[in-house]
Amino acid sequence: MADHQPEILLVTFPSQGHINPSLQFAKRLISIGVHVTFMTAASAIHLMNKTSPLQGLSYAYFSDGYDHCFQLTDDSNHYMAEIKRCGSQTLREFLAQSIDRGTNFTCIVYCTLVPWVATVAREFHIPTTLLWNQPASLLNIYYHYFKGYDEIISKDINDPSFLVKIPGLPLLSRHDLPSFFIPPNSHVMSLLAFKAHIEILDQETNPRVLVNTFDVLEAEAIKAIDKYYKLVGIGPLIPTAFLGRKKLAETSSGGDLFKVTKEYREMEWLNSKPERSVIYVSFGSLSVLAKPQMEELAKGLLDTGRPFLWVIRESGEEKEEEMEGLTCQKDLEKQGMIVPWCSQVEVLSHPSVGCFVTHCGWNSTFESLVSGVPMVTFPQWTDQGTNSKLVQDAWKTGVRLTKNEEGIVEGREIKRCLEMVMGGDMRGEEIRRNARKWKDLAREAAMEGGSSNANLKAFVVSLETLK
Ligand code: UDP
Repeated sequence: MADHQPEILLVTFPSQGHINPSLQFAKRLISIGVHVTFMTAASAIHLMNKTSPLQGLSYAYFSDGYDHCFQLTDDSNHYMAEIKRCGSQTLREFLAQSIDRGTNFTCIVYCTLVPWVATVAREFHIPTTLLWNQPASLLNIYYHYFKGYDEIISKDINDPSFLVKIPGLPLLSRHDLPSFFIPPNSHVMSLLAFKAHIEILDQETNPRVLVNTFDVLEAEAIKAIDKYYKLVGIGPLIPTAFLGRKKLAETSSGGDLFKVTKEYREMEWLNSKPERSVIYVSFGSLSVLAKPQMEELAKGLLDTGRPFLWVIRESGEEKEEEMEGLTCQKDLEKQGMIVPWCSQVEVLSHPSVGCFVTHCGWNSTFESLVSGVPMVTFPQWTDQGTNSKLVQDAWKTGVRLTKNEEGIVEGREIKRCLEMVMGGDMRGEEIRRNARKWKDLAREAAMEGGSSNANLKAFVVSLETLK
């Protein structure tokens, strides 16, 4: 290793929503002279497209206990325990071997949900930095939750009029909070992982966290917590080709875990549609809608009469059968296009896309914001309710769908929100205006001289003191 080149080990949780921003972070770092070893679980590393290697980027893997079959199992508690147990052990072995080979990592950057990486790094006296790949607001919420708000929240959460005021955030109702706070929480191990993050940061002197956000987007949330942690916005972590800057590398993330075997030509299809006319629908890489909800969504989309591009992932035969079973399948294919996966950032930056029906995973939300595409939000779990709240009430670039008493969002509600966001309504105009404003601000932050660009460079300069 050349003396002047910092060497970072970047360790990420093996899901699409974590791999995409981490990989972009790695690419940003190598563009300013840092060597990065990108590490995630073996099963995910094997699925990633590594055919166009970048100078300065290497790959490594740890074990999550499922080396030969990529799966975040249905039993997330078992999975989180296994990834910690097997991951810690194999990371330990990897670091010992690296040291034997003469590689001394300047810093280990570890991402959300893998706090055990920091514990192992300490055994080797290697400095660590957390890369938080949810909004800063969520770190703020988790911080306060584990500092006493857990009692306030759990005492009143079942009261229908429940509202909580967390510093730096709008008033939050039950459905605006991380789903892990809401009983019955079947993801206890995930909540414990967030708790471990806070405990690890608390042990540091002047903890600094890199966050996939940009400073003005979450100024109040960042300020509210800066007595405890310095949150540094380095986002949006999406391929630079979509930020209106010179192409750094390939346009796709390169980290797709989903393979599309048939050619769909969705970009050609989008080219044939008028500007801002298409509804893009996707629920990310993990969420699955129940059949009755799929039917309502299909009904709502058809009723708008607008073209739509709908991602329905093919996760085995069961899913295909479910699709065949949609009552209006033929009509859907006449009015819209259904694909099992697409290059989402490319789709969102296409001029014919006018609205995104999204589950509000943080990457999807941020990618939409960066592309200036208004949102109709349908959060499912984890941070998505909070992201949706920020979209609707803080950034005002979208509206949230309302469920009926049976917990279903009806077709007519979907149509109502889509018409509001895409039609002539005054609120729709305001939403579209805000979407354009945040698009410009996001790009500004990422450009040379912008806040995220400057924060990233300052981080790299600070590595000098660690060498
Ligand atoms: N994505 C994609 N193609 C698709 C659907 C999703 O490339 O057809 C990407 C999307 O751009 C985002 C990631 O998958 O970067 C999903 O992350 P997000 O945080 O939105 O949701 P999660 O999958 O973690 O629920």
